[in-house]
Amino acid sequence: MSNLDEVANEIRSCKKCKLWQFRKNAVPGEGNSKAEVMFIGEAPGENEDNEGRPFVGAAGKLLTKLINEVLGLSRAEVFITNVVKCRPPNNRDPEEDEINACSPYLDMQIELIKPRIIVTLGRHSSSYLFRKMGMKMESISRVRGKFYTWNNNEHKILVFPTYHPAAALYNPPIRKILEEDFRRVKEAVSSKTVTLDNFLYGFGDKGEKSNRDSGK
Ligand code: SF4
Repeated sequence: MSNLDEVANEIRSCKKCKLWQFRKNAVPGEGNSKAEVMFIGEAPGENEDNEGRPFVGAAGKLLTKLINEVLGLSRAEVFITNVVKCRPPNNRDPEEDEINACSPYLDMQIELIKPRIIVTLGRHSSSYLFRKMGMKMESISRVRGKFYTWNNNEHKILVFPTYHPAAALYNPPIRKILEEDFRRVKEAVSSKTVTLDNFLYGFGDKGEKSNRDSGK
């Protein structure tokens, strides 16, 4: 498929896994087709299923606030999506067969957008991207807050795992960590003139690593 609209149209009529039976609306994702920063969550929830748009509930409000106030960007400047595009019943975790069926859409979106930075929100999207990078993820708390270099078909992407905003809603310590992580992303967004390796190794001891030395 040659553009994001074609991918979105295919998602809206998709029946490749059982989740199509429960959806009101599929949620392909939205934002800038040339976004520098892409956010990937887990799966749509009730509000997202109702509206057909990603991150529009309480967790979405927090994500939007972080994008606006910490990154200094609008939602229209970034691209926001999920690993799984239809809502799992009762907001349960997406199952392995659902992730396997749906993730080619995400792969196509990444391929078309070619973002410089991907922020994975929570363990499902982080674990999916770690698999793509040939690594095994232990837990989100161990891997979050660091940049990992992914060579995706010769296109270098900085992958940055952090907590899902839903985890921060009623947990002030997690929210503080999420805000700190977004400040790290802001540094990378602002470092356009800095080369990738300079960025990864040139900011002192803040936990930045590439997947060459991540030990995962
Ligand atoms: S979750 Fe993905 S694979 Fe499953 S029906 Fe929806 S769009 Fe298709």
